[in-house]
Amino acid sequence: MKPADRPRLQQAAAGAIVAIACALVLAVGAVTAAHAAATIVIVNQNDPGVGFNDPTPATPVGGNPGTTLGQQRLNAFQAAADLWGATLTSTVPIRIGASFVPLSCTADSAVLGSAGANEIWSDFTNAPRAKTWYPSALASKLAGTDVATPGEPHIIARFNSRLGLFADCMPGSGFYLGLDRNFGGQIDLVTVLLHEFAHGLGFQTFTDDETGAELQDLPSIWDYFLLNNRTNRTWVESTAAERAQSAVTWRGLSWNGPRVTAAVPQLLVPASNLAISGAAAGTAAGNYEVGDASFGPPLANPPVKGQLMPVVDQPTGTGLACDPLNPLNALAVRGNVALVDRGSCDFATKARNVQAAGAIGMVLADNQPGDVSGMSGNDPGISIPAVRITQAGGAAIKAALQGRSRTRSGVVASLGVDTAHLAGTDAKGRILMYTPSTFSPGSTVSHYTTEAKLNVLMEPAINDDLAHEVKPPRDLTYSLLQDIGW
Ligand SMILES: [Zn+2]
Repeated sequence: MKPADRPRLQQAAAGAIVAIACALVLAVGAVTAAHAAATIVIVNQNDPGVGFNDPTPATPVGGNPGTTLGQQRLNAFQAAADLWGATLTSTVPIRIGASFVPLSCTADSAVLGSAGANEIWSDFTNAPRAKTWYPSALASKLAGTDVATPGEPHIIARFNSRLGLFADCMPGSGFYLGLDRNFGGQIDLVTVLLHEFAHGLGFQTFTDDETGAELQDLPSIWDYFLLNNRTNRTWVESTAAERAQSAVTWRGLSWNGPRVTAAVPQLLVPASNLAISGAAAGTAAGNYEVGDASFGPPLANPPVKGQLMPVVDQPTGTGLACDPLNPLNALAVRGNVALVDRGSCDFATKARNVQAAGAIGMVLADNQPGDVSGMSGNDPGISIPAVRITQAGGAAIKAALQGRSRTRSGVVASLGVDTAHLAGTDAKGRILMYTPSTFSPGSTVSHYTTEAKLNVLMEPAINDDLAHEVKPPRDLTYSLLQDIGW
């Protein structure tokens, strides 16, 4: 047995790695209800008068009966701990060293919090794989005895004590402390906690995902399941350079674990697809990878299908559709699928304008190189489907549109779903990990893809439609923890 260096810690919604130094235990909180399959203890690491001990009076909210800010925070922590405790099995109580402390913040961005394993271990009693790092809580479960350094928690969790409460820290966007998901415009703390506790339980690799270097030349248990789907080799079978490359290959890294892969069809729905065909399509014909819009109807079969017609409203020949369409553009898109360019205004505005002109669908071409990405925004008045394609995809299609008339292009766009391909999975039906081609510290690799539909808890950002659930049929977090030994 040997303790490791402190592992790096993952972060919630923002994007940087937050290093947490050794924390001192100042007070010990209550133990969860005895019926839990694992016991999770919240160890309150705040000083008197702050954080969990903040005496500021609070009104009970959303099933949280606390009457001080500190009490309500502790109750929300306990609710998330209880849910994980009822899900996991371990004879060793899991200790989460927790605190609310001032973290990095501005008026419009903030570090919500961070959590991770406090210690990692290899070659402990009953270790399923030799010379492999396991997080402290999982190593203790597998050993059947507490392997942690005496006095040390298994998981460290820190959250931003100033969020939403000060003008320089996202005023108005604080943590919702109720337990009922009725969070409105706030950030649902219980959801964030479920996410962060999962990192601490083992939803992270300890291998450096930027350099590919293993920690002290040993792989993490995760690395047996991270599959480079281009080389068909796992991270333990790859070189450091190959690992680093796969971490920045969009859709290039899959989770190859039996529990997760078996659960995937219970959750994920068919992927959206844009098919281009028609007499004038030429080399642009074929299927395009698309990003979905958060507004408008989801794509479905039978597809919405029509002549693809570009909006042209800029001297450069692009079409932004940020204003109501002029008569020529309106004539072009009426009854057809509109092709517009990204830029200058939000996605929903463009969809609204082409819909008002009579378009039956919208394809948006990116205005810079990169991975295919989604379109945010919200407008219940939008009733046409919309997809986003890459700049390169847009260029290929535009080349085929050169010979169009005012109302026809001979290029047919079909917006539907690919029933043979679930959203966020690879060609073998395995879920993808988050590997944007631009490395994103703290988010890359140790999260699921943002392309999963429905949204899942362990994406790099928290989505509004998450339930307080961690296992199938609504979520895939526990399945992954089972794959690594929980
Ligand atoms: Zn995370």
